[in-house]
Amino acid sequence: MSIPIYTYDAIIVGAGLAGCAAARELQSAGKKVAVITKLHPLRSHSGAAQGGINAAFSDEDSVELHEFDTVKGSDYLADQDAVEFMCSNAPETIRWVEKMGAAFSRTADGKIAQRPFGGQSSPRACYAKDRTGLTLLQTIYEQAARIGVKFWDEWYAADIIYKDGKVSGVIAFNIRDMQMAIFNAKSVMFATGGYARAYKINSNAHANTGDGLSIVARHGLPLEDMEFVQFHPSGLSGNGVLISEAARGEGGRLMNSLGERFMDKYAPNAMELASRDVVARAILNEIREGRGCGPRKDAVYLDVTHLGKELIMSRLPELRELAITFLGLDMIKEPILISATAHYSMGGIPVNIAGNVRLNNDELIEGFYAAGECACVSVHGANRLGANSVLEALLFGRFVGKTMASEIDAIELRVATEDDASTALAEINWALTNNGSEKVPTLREELQQSMTKNAGAFRTKETLDTVIAKIKELRGRFQNIRIKDKSKVFNTELQEALEFGHMLDYSMFIVESAVARKESRGAHFREDFDTRNDDNFLQHTMAYMDKDGNIKLDYMDVVLGKHELRARTY
Ligand SMILES: Cc1cc2nc3c(=O)[nH]c(=O)nc-3n(C[C@H](O)[C@H](O)[C@H](O)COP(=O)(O)OP(=O)(O)OC[C@H]3O[C@@H](n4cnc5c(N)ncnc54)[C@H](O)[C@@H]3O)c2cc1C
Repeated sequence: MSIPIYTYDAIIVGAGLAGCAAARELQSAGKKVAVITKLHPLRSHSGAAQGGINAAFSDEDSVELHEFDTVKGSDYLADQDAVEFMCSNAPETIRWVEKMGAAFSRTADGKIAQRPFGGQSSPRACYAKDRTGLTLLQTIYEQAARIGVKFWDEWYAADIIYKDGKVSGVIAFNIRDMQMAIFNAKSVMFATGGYARAYKINSNAHANTGDGLSIVARHGLPLEDMEFVQFHPSGLSGNGVLISEAARGEGGRLMNSLGERFMDKYAPNAMELASRDVVARAILNEIREGRGCGPRKDAVYLDVTHLGKELIMSRLPELRELAITFLGLDMIKEPILISATAHYSMGGIPVNIAGNVRLNNDELIEGFYAAGECACVSVHGANRLGANSVLEALLFGRFVGKTMASEIDAIELRVATEDDASTALAEINWALTNNGSEKVPTLREELQQSMTKNAGAFRTKETLDTVIAKIKELRGRFQNIRIKDKSKVFNTELQEALEFGHMLDYSMFIVESAVARKESRGAHFREDFDTRNDDNFLQHTMAYMDKDGNIKLDYMDVVLGKHELRARTY
């Protein structure tokens, strides 16, 4: 079978905020750029971001405070040079996206409105009602499409071409008919988004299966800080669908079954607006100690009734719709039931501030870049603050696009041969023809249940070892799958099998990295090592997978700076 080969200056995988922003920069710098995306760009998870995007520009706020809040929120694991870069460029990023057409909500005197978010010293999250991500994504996508960026929609990236320390292309197939193609490029960027679908209760889109991470890891390249998975305090009870922090930002209160506003025990100053890891653990603790609400006693109440109908309808209309649709509860009239939900991944593909994928503090991979949630730069360290992620995706996406444009001319194009597609082709043929007895949805369910139960907001060596054993078992059973659909047209069953293979691989990174980190920091809470240990663990985890699927761990220095280490209280 002959495989078509296409050649571009730059290929971007992923069309969320990070991918679209980078593509726009490259195209406006005169480069020939294509974006490969398994979804229509506007279906990327960026479009689901509700609450806001941070930038310090009000009179009461400052860039330095934004930095301080971010570093403190990260439990001091963030690289302070990257945090400084992000916070100082945030106000200009808001002006940039506004000029391109993004319509933010306004105050009565016409300024961009900003709402309080957890762990922030000042109302800092700019928003467009509770549809901030969609507003931004529509703007950036339109601007990228308008100037001629080529989008390969519903194309699934299956592999990168990586040889001799250099990435020179992507192997992808058309989801519509499974036609495989090779994309040569001088530079390749991954902007493949988050990966919380490894958990049963999660807030993420179905597509957030961490493909980018596993594709990279299978080449023996490292993944950074994978143990840090954020559990958002407010997922709808039972299914984890997100109720944005905007609800608490606007004044929402958390109550247990005794009617107590329990956050005063856990964070007496910040209350419901402590950082996410703190609030999520408080909720889970109330439930564990028997003060849970709802028919299964596995949730707490989030009450916004005192805010009144007018405010709820003007600032939180989508959240209200979600609670009515999924729980039948109208937040104008009654409290709704929420609990912690797997939400965001602080770790990912290690990159420097310019977006170059790196092996350690010094060594870079030629022609390979990453930005957005799949990357670890690391501005969030051990815990991300709300409204810093859309900022990260948009800001670093844009700046990494600029880096790529400036470095492209010095990179020599390496032309691929059909051989470069052989691993991807073999994997697809195997998945289509394997004649075992296991079903992918069953295996996925078992992985997700085990991750939620054993690698969640509370962990111990014992629970993590249970998941490691589970993943090993599932890897064996995965070799014995059978896909019923043998057609080549929109074969979602085949795609789900490939995605599940990715979930298995990066989940192993999460748990192996978590076992080795014998301390509690940010979102990683070890009940058997329940304090932060800066002497031994103020370092980034760098994890590698060998050909047999075993994980090896190494560590990388954290970039410290003017914000000195302190105990973290809210
Ligand atoms: C419900 C929800 C609400 C949120 N609210 C906020 C908020 O208010 N503020 C905030 O700061 N953050 C928020 N976040 C987090 C934030 O939205 C994301 O971290 C950010 O938008 C990620 O952007 P991205 O560009 O990195 O990835 P995404 O927008 O997730 O895009 C990923 C892209 O990768 C593509 N892709 C993936 N794998 C493949 C493959 N194998 N082949 C081809 N294409 C592939 C997809 O098609 C998609 O286009 C929220 C997240 C969720 C889930």
